[in-house]
Amino acid sequence: MNVLVINAGSSSLKYQLFNMETETILAKGLCERIGIDGHLKHKPSLAGKKVFDEAVSLPTHAEAISAVIDKLTSADYGVIECLSEIKAVGHRAVHGGRRFFGSALINDEVVAILEDCIRLAPLHIPANLMGIRACQIAMPGVPQVAVFDTAFHHTIPEHAYIYPIPYKYYEENDIRRYGFHGSSHRYVSAIAIQHLDKTNDTKVITCHLGNGSSLAAVKNGKSIDTTMGVTPLEGVPMGTRCGSVDPSMVDIIADIENISIKETMDILNKKSGVLGIYGESSDFRDIEIAAGYDMNTGFDDKSATPNKRAKLALEVFNYQVAKFIGSYIVALGGLDALVFTAGIGENSPYVRRAICDLLKGIGIKIDEHTNAVRAGDFLDITAEGSIAKVFVIPTDEELVIARDTMEIIHK
Ligand code: AMP
Repeated sequence: MNVLVINAGSSSLKYQLFNMETETILAKGLCERIGIDGHLKHKPSLAGKKVFDEAVSLPTHAEAISAVIDKLTSADYGVIECLSEIKAVGHRAVHGGRRFFGSALINDEVVAILEDCIRLAPLHIPANLMGIRACQIAMPGVPQVAVFDTAFHHTIPEHAYIYPIPYKYYEENDIRRYGFHGSSHRYVSAIAIQHLDKTNDTKVITCHLGNGSSLAAVKNGKSIDTTMGVTPLEGVPMGTRCGSVDPSMVDIIADIENISIKETMDILNKKSGVLGIYGESSDFRDIEIAAGYDMNTGFDDKSATPNKRAKLALEVFNYQVAKFIGSYIVALGGLDALVFTAGIGENSPYVRRAICDLLKGIGIKIDEHTNAVRAGDFLDITAEGSIAKVFVIPTDEELVIARDTMEIIHK
């Protein structure tokens, strides 16, 4: 049984086609520059099938889905004979608001609730809806499932999700902590728990460190706190997002620049984070090289001349992540495992070492040699005498979406 997973952005659409009997990827790809001109990268996993990487006219998401279906079923590039071999479509939906505590079969009511959630995620939900509508038109009758980034965090207790602002904004306008990257935190925390020598009272902190970064405190497999808030802007500093800052600075920056609140928010979303401090790039690979670190070992590259602001950007990031880890040890009442995942967490020995160095005082220790291993798979980097395990676990949000889709359509 094949499940197509769709992750639609405003001008892009990522897809993966899974064979769910073997949980293997048959093909994956990316439509870019939708609404501008259009480009499609399509990569089949079957031997003898060709990769497609060319400009394609993509005026809307509807043409993007048609182009994807065309490639999936074509003689040269395809991995299935006809469309009927796709049994269901799973959509990544960024925000489920207060209504969705789990994944949902998409119907008119679910679409209406998603439309109502646009006020909470105005950049993301319209794109999710465009992906859903395009698939409904291209594949009528094929069940579509929405898997929400926020759903895993629905177990967060009231004292952790209520903001200290007038309560009516929660009651009347749904302003509360929701949290994001739920599929990733769910996936890696479940694997971490499998590698513990206990099954009860498990305490795990998951660090999803990528372009967007968030941490979650996971007790007995359930999220009890997370760093992102009503939007994905809160929490640790990110590639271009500021994370948690004094809210008064919105007013101050708007005054300095003589711009609106919306324009100021754009600065905090797109020009801040490590990019804001370093000034040249938001990509951690560029920043680590500029700061004079060896990408393979995570240690100083003796031949490099470190750029001060690149170094500072990394130090600010590491410090904030370590501080949240400390606070989540309090929230959990201890710690069994600390997990690093996503682009930076999986691939940067430097970031892992620097964060764990800040945690030495509370007894978290990693093995420097194992930390420098590039395994691409589960890696235990714990050193002897550490109070908790430290794991590197590659995330797989698409597989979570495909599995949830299967579960929902078989209910
Ligand atoms: P993601 O959003 O999970 O795709 O992660 C993207 C981030 O991971 C970017 O900032 C990349 O620079 C970073 N990244 C990917 N590979 C490495 C690496 N080898 N070392 C440091 N950062 C990396």
